Amino acid sequence: MADAPEVGELTPPDRTLMGPGPSDVHPRVLQAMSTPLVGHLDPSFIEIMNEVQELLRYTFRTDNQWTIPVSGTGSASMEAAIGNVVEPGDTMLVPTNGYFGGRMESMARRAGGEVVHVEAPWGEPLDPVDVQKAFDEHQPDVFGFIHAETSTGVLQPNVSELTSIAHDHDAYVIADCVTSLGGVEMQVDEWGVDVAYSGPQKCLSCPPGASPLTLNDRTMDKVLSREEEPRSWYLDLSLLEGYWGDDRSYHHTAPITNVYAIREALRLVAEEGIENRWERHLNVAGELKSGLQEMGLEMNAPDEYWLPSLNAVRVPDGVDDGAVISYLLDTYDLEIASGLGDLAGDIWRIGCMGYSARPKNVQYVLSSIEEALAEQGYEQ
Ligand SMILES: *Cc1c(COP(=O)(O)O)cnc(C)c1O
Repeated sequence: MADAPEVGELTPPDRTLMGPGPSDVHPRVLQAMSTPLVGHLDPSFIEIMNEVQELLRYTFRTDNQWTIPVSGTGSASMEAAIGNVVEPGDTMLVPTNGYFGGRMESMARRAGGEVVHVEAPWGEPLDPVDVQKAFDEHQPDVFGFIHAETSTGVLQPNVSELTSIAHDHDAYVIADCVTSLGGVEMQVDEWGVDVAYSGPQKCLSCPPGASPLTLNDRTMDKVLSREEEPRSWYLDLSLLEGYWGDDRSYHHTAPITNVYAIREALRLVAEEGIENRWERHLNVAGELKSGLQEMGLEMNAPDEYWLPSLNAVRVPDGVDDGAVISYLLDTYDLEIASGLGDLAGDIWRIGCMGYSARPKNVQYVLSSIEEALAEQGYEQ
């Protein structure tokens, strides 16, 4: 056997996180994570679970009883949503306008669903006219869309219009709110969203590990009357009901520290006020946007569907996108990201989420990018 490896102390670099997530974690959340554990069935933890559920309802703008943090990252709450709602033989309508619509598609297929598409180019939102056409043509049972597409920096407008179309066809609507929850207006009940899921490490500025999910009663009725069990035991909501519902009986050990973390992150949302938080993201990201534009850079999305929490910026001709990203990381410990898929090489993605959405960070990004561009010989 090998000798015990000599591994040094943990000393990660001191980054400023302005990419597509994770965002900078609020110090109060880090502190909450260093408090001692209690058991996941301890009466004091049951109280904490109730508080997290209440705070999640506030943040989602919903009265849904079925509102929980799913153990795992945003993809876990995404798979809990799709894997429970989509039954074998159901048809799910998914978008083609970004990376995460593709992930919805893979999950729906694995759940035994048939997948049909509503098309839009990467970098554009869905047009309600196309959604209407897709419904008339395919009569899907479930419709999924991405409220804030992190791969393209596009905010899906007209959410109520999309949900009305779906409900006229008796379908269920699943909204991906991973990059919008706690950063950009999302009104689950008022906008008629049946199921919404999110992640903690984007606009909630919490480490990944416990991910918000909410379903209304109509959708839970479908889930609880399935003929076939969902394919995942871990994410089966009819079993999770035993833990998060009235019984509070063991299903799996909740990630206690992550529940502490999201509780503190959501407490920060409630203290700030959700509307104020949306406004702060708009204002701070607005400063970022105008600063970039003053440098002669262009946003990829027009103002009607610009996403404050994720700013997609066009890479100017003659500039190497990767060299700028490396320069910022190496020189300033500053993280931003490149484009993905159809937009690879064409855009940078600059996040402005949660605790990272502060004027101080914006000034830091602007001055560092200006310097990185000058290094590349960029002239306005
Ligand atoms: C980040 C993200 C996810 C996946 O979340 P993970 O925490 O990486 O599993 C899903 N959808 C969107 C829109 C995202 O930005």
